[in-house]
Amino acid sequence: MYELIGKELIAPEIWKIKVRAPHIAKAYKPGNFVIVLPHERGERIPLTVFDTDQENIYIVFQEVGKSTRLLGKMDVGDQIQDVMGPTGHEFPSQKFGNVVLVAGGVGAATAVPLGRHLHACGNQITTILGARNKDLVLFERELESISEKLIITTDDGSYGTKGFVTDALKEVLSTKLPDLVIAIGPARMMKAVSDLTKPSAIKTLVSLNSIMVCGTGMCGACRVGYGETTVLTCIDGPELDGHSVDWDTLLPRLNMYKEEETLSLSLMEKESR
Ligand code: FAD
Ligand code: NAD
Repeated sequence: MYELIGKELIAPEIWKIKVRAPHIAKAYKPGNFVIVLPHERGERIPLTVFDTDQENIYIVFQEVGKSTRLLGKMDVGDQIQDVMGPTGHEFPSQKFGNVVLVAGGVGAATAVPLGRHLHACGNQITTILGARNKDLVLFERELESISEKLIITTDDGSYGTKGFVTDALKEVLSTKLPDLVIAIGPARMMKAVSDLTKPSAIKTLVSLNSIMVCGTGMCGACRVGYGETTVLTCIDGPELDGHSVDWDTLLPRLNMYKEEETLSLSLMEKESR
């Protein structure tokens, strides 16, 4: 069992939690995530390790379905059933040069640790941070501190420039081609970023959020068509080459359990009434 040590609402339905897990904190490398089982009757869900200290890990998550809502209902002092990890590939400690970091919505929770790591490796970072509206713009200060330039977009124009992150990316690409683009956020956004960078063959990494169950490479739920082959997001990723991902099969797969997920959430809400 893993004790919930701290909990902070950082935006509507978005929590930052602190969980006591000394062995995970010690083994953690940037790019890693954990598989969280909030409750014995919950399911296993992958969540990025946002930060660590000696004894604890920090996780930022958005309430979207049953398990994330269960986690959101837990109080400081409660015990989380299981936290497995750290898992996923360590992000390379490499100087790529000019890097554009594109973070959409809660994807910013993964962009911060990756951005800090890239900055520490001597890369020059331009960050594009997008959200639906001003209230959902996450980690502006943290991303500004590691970026040469930070561009903020909101879909409704309530903060920064009006538009999608891809509108800002088009402008950045029209002035100078970067050595690397990294996109983290909704799958449709990561596909759109990959489509934009493909014609100029700019190396593009995406942090894939495919449906995942075991997180150890055993179950195959997170498989993704990848060039001529198939990879598993949990052990081959989560950062993968956006130009090799078969988006046409990945995008519909993300919705394949929608009916069951909706039913599961409504049953949980009925039980708690
Ligand atoms: P469900 O009932 O499973 O689903 C509710 C809705 O969310 C449905 O519309 C469904 O289509 C969508 N959904 C379900 N599973 C996923 C998934 N794996 N990815 C995207 N959409 C999904 N989320 C965060 O908020 N913070 C993070 O740091 C974070 N890190 C992730 C790291 C990795 C490597 C991966 C693969 C995903 C990450 N996610 C993160 C997404 C998170 O795992 C899902 O939001 C979570 O599994 C949803 O579980 P649920 O039971 O609450 O919702
Ligand atoms: P959202 O729907 O609010 O979108 C965020 C931003 O992405 C938008 O403001 C827009 O700029 C851009 N965007 C969205 N759709 C686009 C499109 N079709 N074309 C171009 N740009 C587009 O995002 P959200 O609700 O915060 O969801 C965040 C997503 O990030 C979830 O799917 C979650 O699973 C994922 N996530 C992934 C990780 C990871 O490590 N892989 C970590 C955290 C969150």
